[in-house]
Amino acid sequence: MLAMAKVNDESALMRDLKEIPGLRVKLAEPLARYASMKIGGPADYFIEVERGAALAQLLPLLKRHRTPICFLGNGSNVLISDRGVRGAVIRLAGDFKRAEWQEEGGVAWLEVGAACALTQLVREAARQGYAGLEFAEGIPGTVGGALVMNAGAYGSEFEKIVDGVEGVDSDGQAIRYSRKEMTFTYRDSHWPAGAVVTRVRMRLRKEDAAQVSSKVRALVAKRKSSQPSGYPNSGSMFRNPPGDFAGRLIEAVGLKGKRIGQAQISERHANFIVNLGGAKAEDVRRLMELARAEVKKQFAVELAAEVRRLGEWDVE
Ligand SMILES: Cc1cc2nc3c(=O)[nH]c(=O)nc-3n(C[C@H](O)[C@H](O)[C@H](O)COP(=O)(O)OP(=O)(O)OC[C@H]3O[C@@H](n4cnc5c(N)ncnc54)[C@H](O)[C@@H]3O)c2cc1C
Repeated sequence: MLAMAKVNDESALMRDLKEIPGLRVKLAEPLARYASMKIGGPADYFIEVERGAALAQLLPLLKRHRTPICFLGNGSNVLISDRGVRGAVIRLAGDFKRAEWQEEGGVAWLEVGAACALTQLVREAARQGYAGLEFAEGIPGTVGGALVMNAGAYGSEFEKIVDGVEGVDSDGQAIRYSRKEMTFTYRDSHWPAGAVVTRVRMRLRKEDAAQVSSKVRALVAKRKSSQPSGYPNSGSMFRNPPGDFAGRLIEAVGLKGKRIGQAQISERHANFIVNLGGAKAEDVRRLMELARAEVKKQFAVELAAEVRRLGEWDVE
């Protein structure tokens, strides 16, 4: 276990961070407000990066100071520990929210910063009549998070529209992958650990704007009819096992509605855990363990977490 770092405004790291323009640094920043589940203790250093040049200086600096790092997008696929995160949590902002659209012979090329909100892009694509992104309506993540997770829904996923990815590695060096150089699997892009996605190039198709919009509206309705609303959550907690659905299995073992503390397996959809108000990350983790153990006992199926745990935990 890492000890809580001595974070203060006078630390050697803080002095160096202040030398880099384009960073916003907060000490001991509570993370619950940055996670869709509204759970999570403090980050020693919470660093928002506004510009590419700042990112290229920041990552080697943190390496030199031996400060552990992790990245946060919109926090919609993470479970952040109650004790929080030791080291630095890095979130892209500012210039990383830019998007450029170009049309060429029926194809739309979308060059987009990793901090862009997916849902905004879906709506803009629909307005302009570019098809391919509709599946992402209702996925409350950033482009960076969606790339890393290979986010998907309703038979499509990110890998189908990605043409190339840019990022920065832990030495501050720019990295770039073409679609062919990337390996996507179900809810994973195998993005290298320690590197940050900064920009994604996507390929969409030019179609009739009214048709694209109507497809988006149909998917919104479908989502509303099946997923819980009203309580903070992180979407699906488990990946679907081959040929089955995690939600069906958890419901079948009788855990729909099960509560630990203020965390509850949703009564609407058993693959969601909702925060009824003031839930602890540990409550959520224990509910997940319970679901996993019962499904294994009754169906001999191993459920794998889709949600990624961040921060300090007592258990693996
Ligand atoms: C109501 C709800 C519905 C959802 N529906 C769906 C769905 O239909 N399909 C689906 O696939 N997901 C769904 N999700 C889950 C989630 O929205 C997606 O996985 C989303 O793509 C995560 O993006 P994010 O920006 O929130 O990433 P985060 O949750 O912040 O991070 C996810 C992972 O990506 C890493 N990461 C984030 N940004 C970067 C970056 N720039 N560089 C490197 N690493 C990075 C993080 O370290 C973490 O490991 C849903 C979630 C909610 C709350």
